[in-house]
Amino acid sequence: MSGGGTDGSGAGTPAPVPLWCAAAWLGDRGVVEGVRVVPAGDGTVVSLEEGVAAQAGDTVLPGVVFPAAANAHSHAFHRVLRGRTHGGAPGSFWTWRESMYAAARQLTPELYEELATAVFAEMVVTGWSSVAEFHYVHHRPDGSPYGAGTAGSTTAGPAPAGSGTAGSADGPDGPHAMELALARAAVRAGIRLTLLDTCYLAGGFGLPAGPDQVRFTDASAKEWLRRFASLREAVAERFPASAVTVGAALHSVRAVPPEALAEIAGALPPEVPVHIHLSEQPAENEACLAATGLTPTGLLSSSGLLTPRLSAVHATHLTAADIDLLGGAGSTVVMCPTTEADLADGIGPAGRLQRAGVRIALGTDQHAVIDPWIEMRALEHGERLATGGRPQFTPAQLLAAGTGGGLRAQGRPPVGLEPGAVCDLVAIDPRSVRTVGSDPEQLVYSATAQDVTDVVIGGVPTAHRGRHLGLGDPADLLGAVLGRMDRAGGTHRSDSRTTLGAAAP
Ligand SMILES: [Zn+2]
Repeated sequence: MSGGGTDGSGAGTPAPVPLWCAAAWLGDRGVVEGVRVVPAGDGTVVSLEEGVAAQAGDTVLPGVVFPAAANAHSHAFHRVLRGRTHGGAPGSFWTWRESMYAAARQLTPELYEELATAVFAEMVVTGWSSVAEFHYVHHRPDGSPYGAGTAGSTTAGPAPAGSGTAGSADGPDGPHAMELALARAAVRAGIRLTLLDTCYLAGGFGLPAGPDQVRFTDASAKEWLRRFASLREAVAERFPASAVTVGAALHSVRAVPPEALAEIAGALPPEVPVHIHLSEQPAENEACLAATGLTPTGLLSSSGLLTPRLSAVHATHLTAADIDLLGGAGSTVVMCPTTEADLADGIGPAGRLQRAGVRIALGTDQHAVIDPWIEMRALEHGERLATGGRPQFTPAQLLAAGTGGGLRAQGRPPVGLEPGAVCDLVAIDPRSVRTVGSDPEQLVYSATAQDVTDVVIGGVPTAHRGRHLGLGDPADLLGAVLGRMDRAGGTHRSDSRTTLGAAAP
């Protein structure tokens, strides 16, 4: 890259700049050379010319430029567990969850803002320009809400972004303290955030929340709906929708009782995207069948939740009838292939879902890997392993899952290289040791995040060769905050794992 719109300090709001791509992926038309893109002040593409030379003052993007990726499923704090949960005794998803709960216990609004800034910066330098953050660490560790007892209201008043000082509505004990910390982190990292505030009411079918889950829970569906409406107001007062929006999530059928699923389906405004963890583990299906006589997908259908705005995360263990229900509803399924491999979840039926009419999106979930190129490739690899055939998805379909699928799941407009689209782009080096010799239209099968030379968000150059132009090397940010958590006595390493508690499903 040459030129650029930032001063490297992270201060101020850099303006979009004209861009010249040595080559660019233009969807059905494949890769075209010499593409000049001019963004408007709002970060959308105004004009696009093909087969032209760069003009003086253009920011040059070498290599092959693609639309930036859209991450449809993240729990930012799970990044703490990367490379730390693989020792000790053999475990399962459920023992991993105990380590995750230990990490959640440590979080304060200030610590989470620092950690999430680093994680979101890592996402940006690898080529994700937006993220759906499935957020459930709402309250203090003892379950009491932040902001309780502050002057007269639980709805924060207007305040400028980044003004999180102690004692203010945006401070570490203000209403929505954890949520506003995540929003500020996203703005600092320059990633577009869809903050999915998560309803979490129970510890399992017919079970109250356990001690490790009280940070996550609200007293009832009504109480969550009230807090959700308040959060939407607080975010809209502080951040433009292009930067931060609020969507809804239901943690899972384990954590939200059937009557609450139906109540929420009927009460949420129609424009709000809705996400839910679905059938990640066989044990969830068995518990749901025993409690309700329905599969989790069947329960969502009977609750009025199977709609085009629904994103079902994982959907790993489905029946043929479940696949037909999801496809018939035009819902999205968010697959998280590297997480599903890491947690030994299984391989979801991505090809069958797509053929049934489901839109596929991708997420990095617990962040054992943050790399859109590996995630796209892993979707295809899972299909090959499960079916014994190759290829299952075309490069265009994999790129669609990595970009358009995730944007649809977030309720965000299209990004990429066409007039009117949001100018979020990523450039790939086609001559690295990994990519040299690849057909440019098959780079999705060979590139990794290490081959990302430049990331542009809203027409603004935001990362270059692994460095965030405002925040520096995300490894330094992550090292600092992980060190701080370790010194504070974190108990999230695998040698401190415990077995699944009796109260947990
Ligand atoms: Zn998840």
